[in-house]
Amino acid sequence: MIYRAPLADIGFALKYGASLGPAIEQGLFGELGLDDIDAIVAEAGRFAGEVIAPLNRIGDTYGTPFKDGAVTTAPGWKEAYRAWRLAGWNSVTAPAEWGGQALPQIVNAACTEMWHAASIGFANGPMLTMAAIDALNAHGSDALKRTYLEKLVSGEWMGTMQLTEPQAGSDVGALRCRAERAGDGAYRLKGQKIFITYGEHDFTDNIIHFVLARLPDAPPGTRGISLFLVPKFMLQNDGSLGARNDIRAHSIEHKLGIHGSPTCTMILGDDGGATGFLIGEENAGMACMFTMMNRARLAVGLQGVGVAECATQLALAYARERRQGRTAGMPSSESAPIAAHPDVRRMLLSMRALTQAARAICYSTAMALDRSERSADEAARSTAHQHASLLTPVAKAFSTDIGNEVASLGIQVHGGMGYIEETGAAQLFRDARIAPIYEGTNGIQAIDLVTRKLPLADGAIVAAHCDELRGIVRMLDASNDPAFGWSAVRLGDAVESLSRATNWLLARLDKEPDAALAGASPYLRLFGIATGGCLLAKEALAALRLGGDTASRLAVARFFAENFAVQAGAIERTVVECAPGIFAADAALAS
Ligand SMILES: Cc1cc2nc3c(=O)[nH]c(=O)nc-3n(C[C@H](O)[C@H](O)[C@H](O)COP(=O)(O)OP(=O)(O)OC[C@H]3O[C@@H](n4cnc5c(N)ncnc54)[C@H](O)[C@@H]3O)c2cc1C
Repeated sequence: MIYRAPLADIGFALKYGASLGPAIEQGLFGELGLDDIDAIVAEAGRFAGEVIAPLNRIGDTYGTPFKDGAVTTAPGWKEAYRAWRLAGWNSVTAPAEWGGQALPQIVNAACTEMWHAASIGFANGPMLTMAAIDALNAHGSDALKRTYLEKLVSGEWMGTMQLTEPQAGSDVGALRCRAERAGDGAYRLKGQKIFITYGEHDFTDNIIHFVLARLPDAPPGTRGISLFLVPKFMLQNDGSLGARNDIRAHSIEHKLGIHGSPTCTMILGDDGGATGFLIGEENAGMACMFTMMNRARLAVGLQGVGVAECATQLALAYARERRQGRTAGMPSSESAPIAAHPDVRRMLLSMRALTQAARAICYSTAMALDRSERSADEAARSTAHQHASLLTPVAKAFSTDIGNEVASLGIQVHGGMGYIEETGAAQLFRDARIAPIYEGTNGIQAIDLVTRKLPLADGAIVAAHCDELRGIVRMLDASNDPAFGWSAVRLGDAVESLSRATNWLLARLDKEPDAALAGASPYLRLFGIATGGCLLAKEALAALRLGGDTASRLAVARFFAENFAVQAGAIERTVVECAPGIFAADAALAS
């Protein structure tokens, strides 16, 4: 499958959608300039397209055979991982103190999109290692950091994230894995974890597991969960690998997609207890895990963008080649490429516009994270942190839904050939399907958005977000360019729908929480549509100012406004009207 990193689109989204240019002018990233960032992103794109993408299909067909407790990854994968980490891609945002490059989150967001576009199965493991580095750096003791961070940052060892148990999926508080104090400062863990990504593999000779478990005297629910670092191999005094720890992969799952990514059932404590080291405080594991999950949630959103981009490229190439039927006025002896038919154009443009909208949202989230870490004054950092918190569930859920929609459209553009494995469109569709499920299902993201993020600063963060979108609409209106068609009106309406739906939800959170929960998923969609549409308009306005490739950016922004933003009014009605119908639906669900 051919994937070519869309460097021009990525660069434009970084600079003008997510306002990287102004951030650099303000000195947010010190000496780092736009040229440096362009060079880094271009090299990542080359690696993704030339080294990782050609391995995606073999990962799908070979899978991850499991024998005698060991996983073998597909031919070429181990070598590609080694080349990838030696090139420094594991350490892009990691702290310099531990060998990282301390580059901005937004640079890593662009790279992450490209790793996942090339192969979600491959990029999944490194994504979790990066999240583990964040959690250990933020919450670990100095001793743990000294022992483990350098090798995690270099990618010599990889990390896993272990929450899920058979009875504890979305309800993390129901987990039962036990941790007992060993008396020597360490803990002994016993239990079972399921669905653990890269729980076992042959990429690295040690694997550092980040495991949630419960102490015997812990309070119930999420307030009684602690986070432990559990190495596959214990370390000797000189740092070399010692005895095997009591944590093992028991089996791997056979699944719909991402066949190259091993998904393991892990058993801890078959032989007396796995040795674990506490990260942060006892019973404060959820806060540590949230550091890890927030990072991973944005990365999973970027999986959605990456898979959508790849599906779009594949569909466009096919639609230009495949000839069927005629367009108006064509001689009967000829046939047209399917890309010339209005309905296929509609599908292709939908794919392009949805992908670019999701990309703009994810990059804007990464920029908010950068501002939360690097702004000069505390107030600006705090506001940016809240803005990033608001956008993260949207980046995760909207973008992974888009990944599925676009991958499905990709199959439709191919017709019957899309359903046949050899084109690669089917694999993208299968691989995309997991992203709305893991890292907190998209339903859980919507609940998070409505119940935790809208109330931030008494609603001031979401209100400021709507005002920012209104500012873009005003600029669009003022541009008066006929190439935008009805965009300003459609986007203006979408933003007001978002604003009204927000106020409606905020007014119900305390008194009618079920009504708010019933409308949470459509609300997240509305949020994504209004925000994505405005960010595309912002990019198109920049293109107008700059000249050059304005036609395609105007066309994409206009298409999104007239085909997707226009749905906002109907979704607003769903948000505010759906609850009574949902609660009256028992009869429909009874049989
Ligand atoms: C391939 C793969 C890789 C994975 N990798 C990892 C990993 O590395 N580490 C790890 O810890 N886990 C991992 N997981 C687990 C994944 O995070 C969970 O599957 C996910 O969190 C959902 O949990 P569940 O499967 O138990 O579904 P459930 O929690 O049973 O949810 C089923 C449905 O009910 C909905 N639902 C549940 N509770 C509520 C509620 N309160 N309100 C509204 N709706 C609700 C959900 O949105 C969903 O639609 C992986 C899973 C897969 C399939």
